[in-house]
Amino acid sequence: MFECSNLEQFMKECASLDFEKNVSLAEHSTIKVGGYADYVAYPKTESALCALVDYLNEEKIKYSVVGNGSNLIFDDEGYRGVVVITNQLKKIRKVRNTLYAECGVSLTALAVYAQKHGLSGLEFAYGIPGTIGGAVYMNAGAYGGEIKDVLQKSAYFDPSISKRCELYNAGHRFGYRESVYETNNNVILSAVFELKQRDPNEIKVEMDGYMAARKEKQPLDYPSAGSTFKRCEGHYTAQMIDRAGLKGFSVGGAQVSEKHAGFVINKGNATSKDIKDLISIIKQRVKEKFDVDIQEEVKYID
Ligand SMILES: Cc1cc2nc3c(=O)[nH]c(=O)nc-3n(C[C@H](O)[C@H](O)[C@H](O)COP(=O)(O)OP(=O)(O)OC[C@H]3O[C@@H](n4cnc5c(N)ncnc54)[C@H](O)[C@@H]3O)c2cc1C
Repeated sequence: MFECSNLEQFMKECASLDFEKNVSLAEHSTIKVGGYADYVAYPKTESALCALVDYLNEEKIKYSVVGNGSNLIFDDEGYRGVVVITNQLKKIRKVRNTLYAECGVSLTALAVYAQKHGLSGLEFAYGIPGTIGGAVYMNAGAYGGEIKDVLQKSAYFDPSISKRCELYNAGHRFGYRESVYETNNNVILSAVFELKQRDPNEIKVEMDGYMAARKEKQPLDYPSAGSTFKRCEGHYTAQMIDRAGLKGFSVGGAQVSEKHAGFVINKGNATSKDIKDLISIIKQRVKEKFDVDIQEEVKYID
């Protein structure tokens, strides 16, 4: 275990930040796997988040910034450093047709806020269990909508120059479940979305329809990290996994969902190793049967 008294002193002196030592990361991931992190920090303001990241970067202390942990797999060995969790950064502000949201705001909460204010564009996001930070990072999307369609700009902290900066939509180089943030160490602080006016009742009907479709198609009764693999040009990934005979296939407590082959689920006592081993078997079988290389959508944090 890594312990650092200067780091602890720094975090204690930072009024707008809570931290804990020796924390189970399984509790911070929707798939419920992962060992213990030496430190988990919860900044409560943007400036506390920037100050912490700046300090960790200067002191060369290993860190990762995460949101709701709904698209990631922590390692069984845990994390020798600081996992920074943004879920205390929850401010939302409305200015005419735009919504400003801090990085820790839940996508579903923002979709509901937009609906109540008769603002359309985030219907697709209702039910995606991530935060704004994770959603901008991943260019989250569903049912024909994506973050890139509604994002005006994001603000980020660049630890290499210790500065808060802004990036307009085109600068994000959005692709299918990817953005420029995957290629740098910048920390997403907030985002501004440009929405359109629409009858709140119509928005609600559309959102409820998406939620019903999720409940019908996705294995929501079990912990998962969502779609394990990315969509792949010209093929349906889940269909290939199914046709490779893998529906219901298990390694330890990890299983290819019988309801939706695109999801690896935790049947109760999976380890991170079970999940990683299962993912590599799926990739290998799909390659053998279809000569297609499928790529993980989930991120590994170790
Ligand atoms: C049941 C289920 C259904 C899902 N359905 C969908 C779906 O329909 N569409 C979809 O796109 N996704 C879906 N997902 C996946 C996931 O919810 C999204 O990708 C979501 O956007 C991830 O957000 P998060 O806050 O959980 O990110 P995390 O999982 O915490 O992190 C994901 C990545 O983003 C980085 N990151 C997070 N916050 C920041 C920040 N502030 N600054 C810099 N980097 C950051 C992390 O380091 C990590 O690399 C689903 C997941 C589950 C469990």
